[in-house]
Amino acid sequence: MNCIFCQIVSKEQSADFVHEGDNVIAFKDIRPSAPVHILVVPKKHIDSIKNLEEGDRDLVSEIIFTAKKIAKDQKFDEGYKLVFNVGRKGGQVVDHVHLHLLGGF
Ligand code: AMP
Ligand code: ZN
Repeated sequence: MNCIFCQIVSKEQSADFVHEGDNVIAFKDIRPSAPVHILVVPKKHIDSIKNLEEGDRDLVSEIIFTAKKIAKDQKFDEGYKLVFNVGRKGGQVVDHVHLHLLGGF
């Protein structure tokens, strides 16, 4: 599949990983818009939050808990932002669900 984040999941494309679990990975954003900018990404290809299914509830929860753990481990959990861009009008450019973890302000 011609999806950049699927290619990162399968290691066809390199990334600066900060977490790798059974269902979720996290890596540094190549164009950071905060002192710390990490993307938390499900290994499963889901194109958008718009197309989440009931069966994805646990996966979405794991994405958020992974972000929380990274913020704590990297010691910026005093304050951070979690952002899902949804659809082109919502600023989504990569059509594979990802949570922006922005911190270190
Ligand atoms: P969005 O606008 O929510 O779709 O965000 C996509 C994000 O992915 C942007 O912040 C990009 O900088 C980032 N991005 C795109 N390609 C890569 C890549 N190969 N490695 C890391 N981050 C990427
Ligand atoms: Zn994908």
